[in-house]
Amino acid sequence: MTPRGWALLTLAGLVVALVVAAALLVPWSRPPAPRVDQLAALRDLPAEQVARGREFRSALRPGGWAALAVGLLVALAFGLTPLGGRLVELVARPFGGHWTAQAVLGAMAVLFVADLFTLPLAAWRQTILTRYGLSTQGWAGWTVDLLKSYAVSAVIGAVALLGFYTVTRLAPRWWWALGAAGAAGLVVLLSFVLPVLVEPVFNRFTPMEPGPLRTELTALAARDQVPVRDVLVADASRRTRAVNAYVSGFGPTRRVVVYDTLLREATPAEVTSVVAHELGHARERDVLTGTLTGALGAAAAVVALYLLGSAGPLLRLAGVDSIAEPRAFPLVIALVTMAGLVATPVQAAVSRRVEARADAHALALTGDPATFEAMQRRLAGVNLADPDPPRWEFLYSASHPSTVERMAAARAYAREAGR
Ligand SMILES: [Zn+2]
Repeated sequence: MTPRGWALLTLAGLVVALVVAAALLVPWSRPPAPRVDQLAALRDLPAEQVARGREFRSALRPGGWAALAVGLLVALAFGLTPLGGRLVELVARPFGGHWTAQAVLGAMAVLFVADLFTLPLAAWRQTILTRYGLSTQGWAGWTVDLLKSYAVSAVIGAVALLGFYTVTRLAPRWWWALGAAGAAGLVVLLSFVLPVLVEPVFNRFTPMEPGPLRTELTALAARDQVPVRDVLVADASRRTRAVNAYVSGFGPTRRVVVYDTLLREATPAEVTSVVAHELGHARERDVLTGTLTGALGAAAAVVALYLLGSAGPLLRLAGVDSIAEPRAFPLVIALVTMAGLVATPVQAAVSRRVEARADAHALALTGDPATFEAMQRRLAGVNLADPDPPRWEFLYSASHPSTVERMAAARAYAREAGR
């Protein structure tokens, strides 16, 4: 069998594995609470809060969609014309056009220049966050965060790019197999080291101070039989007023993190409700599941790239001989950007189901639907959420159930539990 035949077979295997993993690990059989209950929940929210959330989200919307459109247009302009390839050559010229300069500096220049086009929209977004009082960061802090994220991306990008183009040179016929394994390995490695290497670049994490709340949370985790060494507090307040919590990492790097803003804004019982939700993620191993499906997806993407990349018309548009050369990197980005547009709603749908399961876990663990609902109200109020966002936007990108869905789920639980 030819390498192309093997690639087709591998891609089929990866897609089957992804579908099986999604079917087994994603809680599909958990439909949202009835719409009637959602509408009742919406009526119970203060009209002023709903209006303010909607106004804020409407202010953000044009910039958000514009950033998506501009990002796509720039990726297509660079990738489906010889323009991007020329930029790669230009940047590598001072280095005698050496392939490593093309692979690392050239490719990163393409990403950076593309980013410059959407940067004004990111700045516009920041002015809206400031106007509505959600951001606590001045332009200096915002710029420092931006530069830090460039630095982190540059380090990870350089390793990935150098690795990838070394493999395409060493194994011109089989690079897709090594590349797929490498991409999958990188996803697993990044997910594992993210909490210990990347997150501390942006925030300081301190163990929660001893006291009644910490004792309560430790007891909650023990009751849930989730091994959590510590609950960490992130100094999110230096950037935002928004409240949040999350779990990241797996195995020895797994941690539950709450924003310091949450501790300031919410009652101890509400914090307990949030942490119970996060324990749900830990118990169901949602980070590990996300990592494994991400790794399968990344491997499939590399193989698909190899198969698509042998299509003559695409290569002619980009003015390159092979998808495996650094000058074709802009074409890779164009294909990845288009795939991302399709993957976004799928990932969002999976995420919403997983989040609904964590909500159900929190309700069962605390047995306190009233506090859970109060927490959802507070979360929506402080974060200026639209409690019942436009359907199309919700389906395309929402990672969590809407506020009214989560409130309605609490009411359904209360009815069943007879509380
Ligand atoms: Zn969650």
